[in-house]
Amino acid sequence: MRRSFRFLLRPTAKQAAALAQCLEDHRQLYNAAIEHRRTAYRKAGVTVRYGDQSGELKHIRADDPDGQGRWSFSSQQATLRRLDKAFAAFFARVKAGRTPGFPRFKGRGRFGTVEWPKDGDGCRWDSQPGHPSVTFVRLQGVGHVRVHRHRPVRGRVKTISVKREGNRWYVVLSCDDVPAEPLPAAGAVAGIDLGVAALVTTSDGVHVANPRHLAATADRLAAAQRDLARKKRGSTRRLKEVARIAALCGKVGRQRVDYAHKVANALVRGYDVIVHEELRIANMTRSASGTVEAPGRNVAAKSGLNRGILDAGWGVFLTILSHKAESAGRELIAVNPAGTSRTCARCGHCVRENRVTQAEFRCQACGHAAHADVNAAINILRAGLALRRAAEAA
Ligand SMILES: [Zn+2]
Repeated sequence: MRRSFRFLLRPTAKQAAALAQCLEDHRQLYNAAIEHRRTAYRKAGVTVRYGDQSGELKHIRADDPDGQGRWSFSSQQATLRRLDKAFAAFFARVKAGRTPGFPRFKGRGRFGTVEWPKDGDGCRWDSQPGHPSVTFVRLQGVGHVRVHRHRPVRGRVKTISVKREGNRWYVVLSCDDVPAEPLPAAGAVAGIDLGVAALVTTSDGVHVANPRHLAATADRLAAAQRDLARKKRGSTRRLKEVARIAALCGKVGRQRVDYAHKVANALVRGYDVIVHEELRIANMTRSASGTVEAPGRNVAAKSGLNRGILDAGWGVFLTILSHKAESAGRELIAVNPAGTSRTCARCGHCVRENRVTQAEFRCQACGHAAHADVNAAINILRAGLALRRAAEAA
């Protein structure tokens, strides 16, 4: 199994400056490589490929020993490969008859990651293993940087990346052969409904609230976005506001991930089979503007940006849940959500009038009354178990 581990870095002031320079030089390399491809194509009709650009790295490094020459050859190749992927995606979309945007030059602040594709090549995880209490990662041109390793790393470290988010630095390890940690059978199954007031509602009636701090940060973020619209382009105040928004976005992301880990852990411990609704981005956008199927989804939802933050949260949550379920040997089933919120879980009667309000479900046929999200979660569970039986019978 492959898993990634992400830790906060604690660089010294000198190391932080070197990290910033490392990122900046990789950004410039990326931009120069775009320029190279463009000019070659415009002036000579020549298509430049990754192999050509990688071959030139040697000369670039030799000509600039105190600049590009300081960093890892492999991390520079990874940057060129990243551009190559962007071009490959671009040409694939052109071929499919669409009109995609040409791969873009990355401005300052738009290039946040450097990857070393192999541990031991220009970088070394746990570079001072003898140290009794502190973990370090060694990065070529930067040195041994302290890592806030808040949990153990399992498996074999394959790639090492460094990311900048606001004024923080993170190291992300991608590990192979991470051992699974199966949990003992829980003897229970659940359907889960994903929502706004409650992030998760289970078919046995547990509501897991969306955390208040997340909503609070989202409110501040929305306010900052409104302020930004009033600032003059190119002004110092506007730049400050942009920095503030970037910091808040980072904060929302971290809080969301932490919380998603906790909720997913609890679900995986509690149930052997978990059924959830399949998320489709198009569906979510529609439900944000209001649909017939799920009127309740929108009623309590705040509009605009806040809404978007919550939507993105479901995707993050399900990704984390699926990793944990795999590791714990639990079964995760995705079902089509059509009709789950307006169908009666007792008699199967399906009309939209069943959904009285955001929270209240009352069947127009049999009178069954329930919390609307619990009713939906039961339908989701039932659909999942039916899929499972069909798969076993096939
Ligand atoms: Zn009914």
